[in-house]
Amino acid sequence: MPSWQALYYDQPIELVSGQGRHVVDGEGTRYLDCFGGILTTMTAHSLPEVVDAVREQAGRMLHTSTLYLIRPAVELAELIATLVPMERPKVFFCTSGSEANEAAMLIASTVRRSTQMLALRNSYHGRSFATMAVTGNRGWSASALSPFQVSYVHNGDAFRTPALRGMSDEEVIDACVDDLRHVIATATSGDVACLIAEPVQGVGGFAMPPDGMFGAMAEVLDEYGILFVDDEVQTGWGRTGDHFWGIGAHGVVPDFITFAKGVGNGLTLAGVVGPAELMDSVTASSISTFGGNPLSTTGGLANLRYLLDNDLQSNAREMGGRLLEGLRPLAELCSIVGEVRGRGLMIGVELVEADGITANPKAASRVLEECRRRGVLVGKGGLYGNCVRVAPPMTVTAAEVDEAVAAIVDSIKTADREGP
Ligand code: PMP
Repeated sequence: MPSWQALYYDQPIELVSGQGRHVVDGEGTRYLDCFGGILTTMTAHSLPEVVDAVREQAGRMLHTSTLYLIRPAVELAELIATLVPMERPKVFFCTSGSEANEAAMLIASTVRRSTQMLALRNSYHGRSFATMAVTGNRGWSASALSPFQVSYVHNGDAFRTPALRGMSDEEVIDACVDDLRHVIATATSGDVACLIAEPVQGVGGFAMPPDGMFGAMAEVLDEYGILFVDDEVQTGWGRTGDHFWGIGAHGVVPDFITFAKGVGNGLTLAGVVGPAELMDSVTASSISTFGGNPLSTTGGLANLRYLLDNDLQSNAREMGGRLLEGLRPLAELCSIVGEVRGRGLMIGVELVEADGITANPKAASRVLEECRRRGVLVGKGGLYGNCVRVAPPMTVTAAEVDEAVAAIVDSIKTADREGP
């Protein structure tokens, strides 16, 4: 496997089984999973409802192709249509977040007859050429080749963005709206297809703008007819706690929502949803061979029904609040902690040098190792790989949150005291 497919930890872990929020490695060591395979194990490991549905489907049929009707795909599309604030929504299923964003940008580009895009700094939208082109993070952009002309606007992160540093929420929103106007006026020919944005930037270290920022930006987009692609690959399905879609914090209805990761709880399932008049506008046939396959959509349907039946959004809100409360004091206690932020079950800790701002990726790696030693798996992210990310499955319990907090606090204090 190529070197650019990086592994976590000095001694990489092979995970061989999981149950609930716990996973076990090949040597029999058990860990509390606070990263869920990059926010993809959304409900729980080995959730009986999902396992039974998948097992039953696997025994009957794995693949048919979308040339034939697939009942679970239709049922899943119908369920998703009830969960989005859109008129006559239609859903296109594919297999990855990259592919979902590609589809959304294809449609936006077709509708608007434009190949110009806007994206946020510090974003991550995938590994294909178009999605790399709208990824505002050098660490994840391996090529400059782009099918689109992309201009970047501010992301509303007042900690890591030099131009926004130290501003109040209101000032940040004003500055970002001004910047958007300025970028449209100076860097585009006006007829931009869409803005693509994550409500909370996942790979970007759970950096997020003040509530309402995307609503304020959307007023400018509307003046130009620019569409809004809302990438909910990490933020969707209630993970942010307060809202079912992360964009709910911003008072704007997006034109498209893209989803992946958590919906399939590990099965390859992704897609884009938008109003019929936009979704139907693609001018040639297009197909994703594995998109909406019987196995993934059967599992996805069982997973989503479980999430809704058990109101995991409320659990994400409560447990996320508990997690944030437990980790927030670190900002005062440890000089390597620049900021503790996030919402719901997406909590990021940004680690810095003694000057309080220079990114400290080595400390993040040390914290990951220390957490592992204490039996807890967490993730990494951020523009400079200097953020620790905590995002357990949405069934996480209070006792598990407390266990995670104790391990993470202890790990960060150790890294603070001993250095990376
Ligand atoms: N969008 C976001 C917000 C993501 O976090 C990711 C994956 N990290 C993607 C898109 C791409 O998804 P995939 O890896 O399934 O192509």
